[in-house]
Amino acid sequence: MSDCIFCKIINGNFNTEFVYENENAVVFKDINPKADIHLLVVPRVHVESLNELDDETLLGKLMMTVKETTKKLGIKSYRTVINTGKEAGQEVFHLHIHILSGNMKG
Ligand code: AMP
Ligand code: ZN
Repeated sequence: MSDCIFCKIINGNFNTEFVYENENAVVFKDINPKADIHLLVVPRVHVESLNELDDETLLGKLMMTVKETTKKLGIKSYRTVINTGKEAGQEVFHLHIHILSGNMKG
């Protein structure tokens, strides 16, 4: 989607560094980290949120991407979060999985 910030990042518009990527997703650092390590796993396809997801295999691919990323970076303990809907704190309406590790901030 042309006005989606995460689609723009995926397309390289902001020169965002990807800490990991594969055919399904890109992974980059959250700009406003809420933990010592805070990464976002973002599917290459634009899906607004879990509520709009109709590809039952995509979530498994994204979770495998979480595993591959943490393995590559040597992150052994972490939390995964998916915010769905504005009232739950979703700010960017392009599905993504947060990876949080270390001390939480705020
Ligand atoms: P959510 O609240 O689950 O929608 O998460 C969106 C996350 O995207 C927030 O933690 C923001 O800090 C993060 N974010 C927004 N814009 C950018 C950006 N340009 N680069 C990296 N992270 C971003
Ligand atoms: Zn998008």
